[in-house]
Amino acid sequence: MLVSAAEMLKKAKAGHYAVGQFNINNLEWTKAILQTAQELNSPVILGVSEGAGKYMCGYKTVVGMVNGMLEEMNITVPVALHLDHGSYEHCYKCLEAGFSSIMFDGSHYPIEENVAKTTELVKAAHDKGVSIEAEVGAIGGEEDGVIGMGECADPEECKKIADLGVDFLAAGIGNIHGKYPANWKGLSFETLDAVQKKTGDMPLVLHGGTGIPADMIKKAISLGVAKINVNTECQLSFTAATRKYIEEGKDQQGKGYDPRKVLAPGFEAIKATVKEKMELFGSVGKA
Ligand SMILES: [Zn+2]
Repeated sequence: MLVSAAEMLKKAKAGHYAVGQFNINNLEWTKAILQTAQELNSPVILGVSEGAGKYMCGYKTVVGMVNGMLEEMNITVPVALHLDHGSYEHCYKCLEAGFSSIMFDGSHYPIEENVAKTTELVKAAHDKGVSIEAEVGAIGGEEDGVIGMGECADPEECKKIADLGVDFLAAGIGNIHGKYPANWKGLSFETLDAVQKKTGDMPLVLHGGTGIPADMIKKAISLGVAKINVNTECQLSFTAATRKYIEEGKDQQGKGYDPRKVLAPGFEAIKATVKEKMELFGSVGKA
């Protein structure tokens, strides 16, 4: 059964580790992540962007697929199904469809409007036992066609949003989505520290986990990050493994054209990436 992400992140924060949010795109992705979490006895959050939700034929299809897998694969570790960067309308769609966690990305609204909409969604989510993440300070890079600049969040604004009763908070600390450019300045631990001092026990979320050096990840966790989002890295490893299979001509040997064979190396590559991240984040054995 799907669970809210609130409990697992409270535990993570208290235990000084982070739970990975791995975004899903299809059945293979979802199965690879769930299988790895179960094998490593780790809690896990499945992230679904609006674009990926649309690609997978809508949120109801996603909920049906994930619930089916939890049962058929005998998954016993805590699993949350989370809307990533949700708009106001899509937060409601996911609450309706049976997601166990949502993120309202109101970072592009003026702070007053972000406050008003977040307040309303906190109540709607909690009425259903669903956890809710909010964002302060736009996170850079491109996500579903929206390009942010990678700014640092204002700690006062973070406190304002945290006090509305959200379960965890994404604060921009110089992180960006996608691949990091060569001239990236790194995470602002000063901002992270200031945000955490203002928000107390609030678990913080680090978006754009792909390509942040391991020592920075560890330092971020020590300063209060309890959820780290990984998306691009699984895409890169999946595609590299698939390319290798085709380039080696394996699709033209025997029944190598069978889609289950074509997708197998990519599936294993996602598993390896997820395992590496769970080990780095410290969530192994914490289910
Ligand atoms: Zn994000």
